[in-house]
Amino acid sequence: MFPEYDVIVVGAGHAGCEAAHAAAKMGSKVLLCTMNMNTIAQMSCNPAMGGVAKGQIVREIDALGGMSGIISDKSMIQFRMLNRSKGPAMWSPRTQNDRMRFAEEWRLALERTPNVDFWQEMVNGLVVKDNRVVGVKTGIGLEIKAKSVVLTNGTFLNGIIHIGEKQFGGGRTGESAAKGITEQLVSLGFEAGRMKTGTPPRVDGRSLDYSRMEVQDGDENPEKFSYSDETIPLTTQRNCWITYTNKEVHQTLETGFDRSPMFNGRIQGLGPRYCPSIEDKINRFAERERHQIFVEPEGWDTVEIYVNGFSTSLPEDVQYAAMRKIPGFENAKMFRPGYAIEYDFFPPTQLKLTLETQLIENLFFAGQINGTTGYEEAGSQGLIAGINASLKVQEKDPFILKRSDAYIGVLIDDLINKGTEEPYRMFTSRAEFRLLLRQDNADLRLTQLGHQIGLADDTRLEKMLDKKSDTAKLINDLKQKRLSPDLINDGLENLETATIKEKITVEKLLKRPQLGLQEIMLLDEELRSYLSKYSKEVLEQAEIQIKYESYIDKEQQMVEKLNNMENFKIPLHFDYLSIPALSAEGKQKLHKIKPETLGQASRISGVSPADLSILTVYLGR
Ligand code: FAD
Repeated sequence: MFPEYDVIVVGAGHAGCEAAHAAAKMGSKVLLCTMNMNTIAQMSCNPAMGGVAKGQIVREIDALGGMSGIISDKSMIQFRMLNRSKGPAMWSPRTQNDRMRFAEEWRLALERTPNVDFWQEMVNGLVVKDNRVVGVKTGIGLEIKAKSVVLTNGTFLNGIIHIGEKQFGGGRTGESAAKGITEQLVSLGFEAGRMKTGTPPRVDGRSLDYSRMEVQDGDENPEKFSYSDETIPLTTQRNCWITYTNKEVHQTLETGFDRSPMFNGRIQGLGPRYCPSIEDKINRFAERERHQIFVEPEGWDTVEIYVNGFSTSLPEDVQYAAMRKIPGFENAKMFRPGYAIEYDFFPPTQLKLTLETQLIENLFFAGQINGTTGYEEAGSQGLIAGINASLKVQEKDPFILKRSDAYIGVLIDDLINKGTEEPYRMFTSRAEFRLLLRQDNADLRLTQLGHQIGLADDTRLEKMLDKKSDTAKLINDLKQKRLSPDLINDGLENLETATIKEKITVEKLLKRPQLGLQEIMLLDEELRSYLSKYSKEVLEQAEIQIKYESYIDKEQQMVEKLNNMENFKIPLHFDYLSIPALSAEGKQKLHKIKPETLGQASRISGVSPADLSILTVYLGR
């Protein structure tokens, strides 16, 4: 009934969809096996993509030739560039999405991708021979052969849903939990753990009083995620709203604390610290009189509203009563209660940088199964696992992004070397080279790499190369172009510091922090002509590269130093245990993680600088 596949992807969440698409695009014969084909690319929690550091990841996925950016653009109902008032390293695109359209666009995209077959069923085991995966077993007893398998089970492995004192098995509400895989992997020697996450209630938008809330508009000039011309920015957008909890809301919530699975010890898994439930927030920050609630539409046409900031697993009657004390929610009708879910994950220190497991050859893990949280984190891992599964089957070199290449590189490097005890989400502060890893230059950083492996197409590559050469040309023009003091002093209001006394190049003028390229360009006819000659992206790129040149150069020098260590390879079977001088912890961690390079070894928590210099001596550097 089935051929032997190159890659079987288990699960069609954000990780699974990217993995299946990437592997198929690269020429592998792929089977996407998922429990329910009607929930492909379901947004389990908030209907939004991107945001701080996550927006950069979506742009990176797009630049490499992945789909999350395109799907987000096609289904967005609002676009905002967060942190515009800060430096460009912090700018983060975010879309509010139509939940149903997001899932539909993903499904259509996968159906249109040659080489992807679908099978709807639960996978409950792997076929493993001589420590190598060779297929999967399904619930109805089928065995499907494959050269590699990517597991992307999300929150489904032995999932337990909690609402107050009620608890039942499930991977999300209305969907069953996945059984069998954890038990088999543990019997094969894997370590498993337990985590938890939660989601807020959804309500009927027709029952809300928006006059009691603040409107949150999208950007006046909305942009988009994808660098490709496949999508266009929105011309109309939907509003979101902001309201706040108050003392009364908190007091009502507190009446349910004795029935809370979080507080009575029924939930044991650790939850996402930076995405706490409302009961957690009022418990931990008792001094705060109110917490912000974002009131977000779930789509263009639906009346359903997502109550962002009110994630809870308190009993549904308490959720309902407390919610109705929020301004604007006095008559709110609830569609779905909030809930928490506990699920199995596998500490990611058991993986290689390709996301292949160390224990079982050709078996890859991606997404929430690795202890992360978030669609973007999952999607990017799916992409890397799909790429590497495909490359491995084709006997090609692995594809690994460094910390200095991409947030995706930071994410995977952190997971593999540091592991994670609580759901891992990305922050800009996790990246040491964040001025290099901006959302505006992900194409310049990554599209060539995506093209080399057969994922990013020629059109993308050409577009990126045009942007690169136009930017270089414009920067060169701005270095040559000199303006007279009179023109500048009379024309610019924002000079702030001493007036200009002699001719100065536009490049030098632009380095003044208070001046922007657009206003300088209005000073002179030739400069004005650049506004139509160059695209918005090129103008922005040139401005950033000129303004932040010295900082960018500094980070680049640090990267070069780091690369020296990164290029120093450690043999896979290097015997750390036989080096007496290494610290006990360092020895144990190095033995467990088996870093591929000296650079990777340096980032393992528990490996001290002294361990590193001993290692350097032993490796004969
Ligand atoms: P998922 O999106 O969970 O997809 C898993 C897929 O695998 C599904 O299609 C499922 O049907 C399929 N599957 C699972 N097991 C099998 C099997 N054995 N056989 C066949 N198919 C299988 N993220 C945040 O960033 N912030 C939050 O506040 C947040 N809250 C959440 C609240 C809840 C209740 C849930 C459920 C998730 C929440 N998330 C949150 C997490 C977010 O949904 C995930 O990070 C993201 O969806 C993970 O993507 P994934 O592809 O790894 O898995």
